[in-house]
Amino acid sequence: MSNNGLPHHNPPQRTSPSLRELEYHSAFVERHIGPNDAEIAQMLHAIGHDSLDAMTDAIVPGKIKSPAPLALPEAITEVEALAKIRAIADKNQVFKSFIGQGYSGTHTPNVILRNILENPAWYTAYTPYQAEISQGRMEALINFQTMVADLTGMEIANASLLDEATAAAEAMTLAKRSAKSKSDVFFVSNGVHPQTIEVLKTRAEPLDIVLHIGDDAEAASVDAFGLLLQYPDTRGTIRDYAALTEAAHARGALVAVATDLLALTLLASPGEWGADIVVGNSQRFGVPFGFGGPHAGFMACRDAYKRSMPGRLIGVSIDAEGKPAYRLTLQTREQHIRREKATSNICTAQVLLAVMASMYAVYHGPDGLARIARRTHRLTAILAAALRKAGVTVGDDFFDTLHVTGVDAGAIHAKAQAQRVNLRRIDGGSLSISLDETTTRSDVIVLAGLFDAKIEDIDALDVDTADAIPATSARKSAFLQHPVFNTHHSEHELLRYMRQLADKDLAMDRTMIPLGSCTMKLNATAEMIPVTWPEFANIHPLAPVEQTAGYKQLIDELEAMLVECTGYDAVSLQPNSGAQGEFAGLLAIRAYHRSRGENHRDVCLIPESAHGTNPASAHMCGMTVVVTKCDSNGNVDLDDIRAKAEKYSDRLAALMITYPSTHGVFEEDVVAICDIVHQHGGQVYTDGANMNALVGVAKPGKWGSDVSHLNLHKTFCIPHGGGGPGVGPCAVKSHLAPFLPRTLGGEGDVGMVSAASFGSASILPISWMYITLMGTAGLRKATQVALLNANYIAKRLAPHYKTLYTGRNGLVAHECILDLRPLKDSTGISAEDVAKRLIDFGFHAPTLSFPVAGTLMVEPTESESLHELDRFIDAMIEIREEIRAIEDGRLDREDNPLRNAPHTATMVAGSEWTHAYPRELAAFPLPVLKLQKYWSPVARVDNVYGDKNVMCACIPVDAYKEEAEEA
Ligand SMILES: *Cc1c(COP(=O)(O)O)cnc(C)c1O
Repeated sequence: MSNNGLPHHNPPQRTSPSLRELEYHSAFVERHIGPNDAEIAQMLHAIGHDSLDAMTDAIVPGKIKSPAPLALPEAITEVEALAKIRAIADKNQVFKSFIGQGYSGTHTPNVILRNILENPAWYTAYTPYQAEISQGRMEALINFQTMVADLTGMEIANASLLDEATAAAEAMTLAKRSAKSKSDVFFVSNGVHPQTIEVLKTRAEPLDIVLHIGDDAEAASVDAFGLLLQYPDTRGTIRDYAALTEAAHARGALVAVATDLLALTLLASPGEWGADIVVGNSQRFGVPFGFGGPHAGFMACRDAYKRSMPGRLIGVSIDAEGKPAYRLTLQTREQHIRREKATSNICTAQVLLAVMASMYAVYHGPDGLARIARRTHRLTAILAAALRKAGVTVGDDFFDTLHVTGVDAGAIHAKAQAQRVNLRRIDGGSLSISLDETTTRSDVIVLAGLFDAKIEDIDALDVDTADAIPATSARKSAFLQHPVFNTHHSEHELLRYMRQLADKDLAMDRTMIPLGSCTMKLNATAEMIPVTWPEFANIHPLAPVEQTAGYKQLIDELEAMLVECTGYDAVSLQPNSGAQGEFAGLLAIRAYHRSRGENHRDVCLIPESAHGTNPASAHMCGMTVVVTKCDSNGNVDLDDIRAKAEKYSDRLAALMITYPSTHGVFEEDVVAICDIVHQHGGQVYTDGANMNALVGVAKPGKWGSDVSHLNLHKTFCIPHGGGGPGVGPCAVKSHLAPFLPRTLGGEGDVGMVSAASFGSASILPISWMYITLMGTAGLRKATQVALLNANYIAKRLAPHYKTLYTGRNGLVAHECILDLRPLKDSTGISAEDVAKRLIDFGFHAPTLSFPVAGTLMVEPTESESLHELDRFIDAMIEIREEIRAIEDGRLDREDNPLRNAPHTATMVAGSEWTHAYPRELAAFPLPVLKLQKYWSPVARVDNVYGDKNVMCACIPVDAYKEEAEEA
């Protein structure tokens, strides 16, 4: 202890936490996962397990469990992950894009960027199945529908489709269903955008539709059930299609038109010259390029075809008080009801982007839009004049796109690149230049300079240059006359309008949304932040590869992460929704069978509990759907699958199975089921919507499945956006990898399923961030807590509601189905009444009547805290007490708070109250609601009225006036 007899100074020992502990690398994981470790222990105790691992062992069959942790890095912090993705973003180069081809530059109004695209009140909302708590976004969507219908001159428009190319494919099948002509031929003008033609080819072939692609001049002489024209066409030319349309109608064909909404502010609408169906992309109404998406595609048509129209349709109905209220209308067209006879497999669409586009129109109004269009057209006309003066040949009759011919396209392209400008190369001797809202005077001077054309005085040239829109095609009709498009033009007005709408809705910024099958989990802010960085947002989908190295890295890395999470070998990120992923996966199966000379394999086995998109997608692939049974435990019936696989052995193409099942259980037999299907030459398709119960625990690609789609907008944190965007990657084993959809101009046996090669690329950073932030241990823990949260709810509600199906050891998977049918029998109270009463408690209802009618399916996800779970459970228990009061005769069987829910402020505060229960019970069934109360803006919406009186445009103001006067 001594050194030469001198006292030695001992270094002090650290008693506080270590640097490593303080660095706290799992910080994000603990923000993403709701319950903390003490709460997890408490909840585990409640369900009778000692640890998350022990609970997992009790739930997940040993046969499918992954032997090793995911080979992914450990968790990192938000700061570190954002720095990593910043470095990736910086590898993208943002050039000025004049490529066009269906995508145009646009200024997203900042007030919309921040208050819609970056606002969780909008992006965390769910699809508006619960009409009462979705009035705000449905108003925005009805504005979208009105905008599209007005501009296209059609009677009705839907609430968005996935992109222009798939919208065109939907137009083709709508025409097939509706045309008088029984021809199998669909004529496609060669003026249609190339990516649209690609998707049409993919979609036509399995349905035995023959595409005739040719010059417009040929169209009149082709015997077709329908035509698709592009207006203005892909090279910018405006044509008069009135005579052609008349000729097509005379042959019993329908005319579909792909168009540009901004051009239509100046051009006669397709409706005015006779078109039947109009499709397109609303991207240039304020939605960034995003390297291809997401953007809202649209479809409008004549009233006669509305019952055959694909996609969601918002309609006006009335509520229980007789006031106008919005709801999804004509839902009987959709897959959940019509299954393989549905008009299409569209489920998730592009709601958030449609809301943005509608707000762009609300903000600018008809005059503002026309001004943007005119300015764009002026600049284009000026550029054309300058080019002509310099001896360059450009086409006539254009809106914003010049077709330049007789030039050395390669040389000009190279010159353009040097100035950070992108043009569209059509072939060696021609190119096109598309101008837009963002084009400036100096851009036009630079563009002219590429062709050695000088613009000395742009204003003088302006005076001397006539418009290039032919008189016969000029728009004479008015549009967007409704007050909503003529009121909110100042920023304050728009800000308040958007806030007013958002306040009507319940999104995840206010309450858990416990939707079975839809996995409404946290959409963390750090995950969302990169989406609007210009290096991701402002890249044209057809930008040269040298400019998109960052996107390539992001896509490659995300694909590798998903391969690791699923146990498959290859992934395509092209599909824009889960249902599109199904279609891509089934196409891969189909192409695989064909590659082996087994063209006759066309039977797809689908359990009766399957999501409606499964049979609809199989139908789109030309497969015959054979439904298999479920047993009384909710499991797929193994014997029935075996019997049907044997019966159709020669024809078996695939089995589609959801795992864990839509009944919320891990079925023991899944490996055996895969074996049976393989023995009969079929392929196994696992619907991956329930991957949130599997990540880090088990891998479908390793237990015998051949292909899955994932829903990045469920398991991997892309927000639902009120019903889109989505990304539905298709993941396959190696033998199916050659049959994934090809990219535009790329190789492969199977065509494109989306307009853009990488689908909705600009939202991929969200899932990349999620996986990077969580790391291997965090992802596994998330899955385990998702299982725990569901079992905790099932357990605590067990004395009050029966959970319909359980798996091993009486446990459920990540969701539970509460059976309300016995209560209906005893009290007349339906699952819908309970769903609506939950609104009075400030909750979004669970999934109603899927997959079993008369039930509620609850999926809390790992992101919900114990506090929020208990709040929900308390509400459900209180509702059970109300039902008990009906059973006991303390509440009236007819006039009770469940049947009359939700209660609006005007109901409760009206001077008259005639109900057989107190007002206070109506509004404040639990004391905590006095501290924080959500008021439903409308009373229960009448479904029948809305379907009988279909009305899908903005409500005339008179209706509101009358209502205010009555009040
Ligand atoms: C959500 C879901 C789908 C469809 O996904 P979309 O993105 O809406 O097209 C398919 N299957 C299941 C089980 C789902 O939950």
